[in-house]
Order: sequence, then structure tokens, then C-alpha cells
Amino acid sequence: MITQLLTNTNKDLQFAANLIRQGELVAFPTETVYGLGADARNAEAVQKIFTAKGRPADNPLIVHLANLDMLESVAKEIPSIAWTLAEQFWPGSLTMIFPKRKEIPEITSGGLDTVGVRIPAHSAARELISLSGCPIAAPSANRSGLPSPTTAEHVLQDMSGRIAAVLDGGQCSGGVESTVICFDDAQTIHILRPGLISENDLSPFTKSVYIDKAVFQQISPETKVSSPGMKYKHYSPKAKILPVDAPDFEHFRNYVEQHKTNYTYCLLFDSDPEIHSIPCLRYGDNGVQQAHDLFFRFRELDELGAEIVYVRMPEKSGTSLSVYNRLMRAAGFEVISL
Ligand code: AMP
Ligand code: MG
Repeated sequence: MITQLLTNTNKDLQFAANLIRQGELVAFPTETVYGLGADARNAEAVQKIFTAKGRPADNPLIVHLANLDMLESVAKEIPSIAWTLAEQFWPGSLTMIFPKRKEIPEITSGGLDTVGVRIPAHSAARELISLSGCPIAAPSANRSGLPSPTTAEHVLQDMSGRIAAVLDGGQCSGGVESTVICFDDAQTIHILRPGLISENDLSPFTKSVYIDKAVFQQISPETKVSSPGMKYKHYSPKAKILPVDAPDFEHFRNYVEQHKTNYTYCLLFDSDPEIHSIPCLRYGDNGVQQAHDLFFRFRELDELGAEIVYVRMPEKSGTSLSVYNRLMRAAGFEVISL
């Protein structure tokens, strides 16, 4: 199969929408990362996503909608707090989990009786969904385990020859995947995966918001978790990623200078001074910048031939928690604490 590179012109969007309707796979830009889309109601099409990615069958897909009118065709028992959050955060990078309708086959929900849903903010994504008339199941458009793609070129690195088309919409503005939440009860928001919509953003809307422990620690493959995706090693480039929890830059520099080998790189904050003896890339000074750059830098480091990458540790709160979580997963939760 030759993967076609499309742009977000009307003609190309129509062409891509037709592919989706015919049960083919199309990767498309969203404001988080590139998604790998198929008609969420078509079990055969969705199977192609799992095959193209090499994704474990129990890892559910997020269903993307063009507007709120589509919500009750895929989900039911939507609590009133969810309508409030939808009004506040959609279109945007919030995924909410609800009991699923039978229109959504089990393969899409990873065998669960629930479905994760969001309305993306990226206009090309919503246009594609509208034109196809389908709810679109779309995980990140990377091969399973690798860093999520934030450009069309990164999608092609992983998916060329495996999918019908990629819609090029430039680099994603967000850079990490959506915040995934479920509702334990009418008043409690449970964050299963952190994203750029943080605990602080959600807390004005309810009595209680809490973050799943799988965000902070390794979960064994046998453990039953609320969000199956959280137990798999993920986001990882070929290079070994080593987050260094140092009290300050001087401690970090001393450590890496003592431990460097031939193919050692550093991933620093923008405001850090240079380390002259080691090649360094940078990934911003705050959660929003770091989220934007993290996966892009991971892929750049692989192209440079990095074998070991020492990474300055992001904060564990606010928007940075999404970056901390991806970094820790890429590192298999192994940290160097100084
Ligand atoms: P990805 O498609 O790669 O962004 O991963 C989707 C994430 O959303 C995974 O971590 C899933 O575990 C989570 N997710 C999607 N649907 C559900 C659901 N119905 N219940 C729990 N977690 C879900
Ligand atoms: Mg993913």
C-alpha cells in the first residue's frame, strides 16, 4: 500500500473522508498529537488500527466527534457534570469516559463496556469527522510503544505503507495526548491520564478531583487498572531515557559529566547554561513548552544517534504533570535521584 500525503484543502479532506467511510485508515492532525483514524462503528476498520500500530487488543481507543449532537449516538448515562465540562472544555483536549452504546463495537473499546470520547479543537480534525459522517476512533498515529507523532513526517516514519493516507496539518500545538477522565460518582472526577487540562482546571467544576496512582508509578501487566493504556511501556524512543532528579543544574551537570559515554546526550531546560562536553537539546521551561517539544525531541535524538539521554526533570504538578508522566513512562519509571 502507498500512503498518500494529503493537505487540509477541501478536496483532500473530502478524499480523506471517503477513505474513512470505506473503512480505510487516515492519520490526521489534532491539537494534541496526530491520530490514526477509522470509522469507530466499523469493527473491521478498527481492527486495521490495532494491526497497523501493533497495539494490544485490550487498550481502548478514543472516539472523536465533530460536535455535541453526536455524543448520545456513541455514549449513554451522561452525568450532568459531563455536560458542564463539555461546555467548558470542548472542543479541546479532554477525553471523558461513559457507558458505551452498542453502535460502538467491543474492539473499539478494548472489550470494555465504556467508551472514551472527545471533540478535538483542530479544525481539520473536526472537518474530517463532519465530512465522513462517522465518529472516528483514533489513537496516536505511532507504532505501539514509540513516541507519539506531532508532525505528518513523524507519522510517515512509523506508518508509511501501512495506512491509506496522512493529512498534513503542520506541527501539533499541544504535543501530548488528551487528559482522560472518568466519573466515579456524580461529584468525583478521576484523572486516568494527565494532559494539558490539569487537575486545577477541573477542580472548580466539582467537589473532588483525584489523579490515578498509575500516573506516578509502574503498573504490572497483570494488574487490573481503570485505564488499560497506562500499564504498557510507551512513548519511548530507541535511546535510553534517564530522567535525573537533581536539586539544581550544577548537580545535574556534575553527574552527567562524570557518567557520559560516546553517545550521551542531554535534554535541558531552555534557561539552563550550556554543557560544553556533551551535545544538548532543550525542551522549554514550563509545562506547556515542554509538552509541545518532548516527543519531537525524542524523535530528533534518535535521528542524531543518541544512545543515552539524561533529562532534566519536569515538575510533577499542573500542566507539567503530563510531561512528567510521559517521561517516566518512556524511562520505565527509572529515575536517577541526586
Ligand atoms: P491513545 O489512543 O494512544 O491516546 O490512548 C488512549 C488512552 O485512553 C489509553 O491510555 C486508554 O487506556 C484510555 N482510554 C480510552 N478509552 C478508555 C475507556 N473506555 N476506559 C478507560 N480508559 C480509556
Ligand atoms: Mg498512544
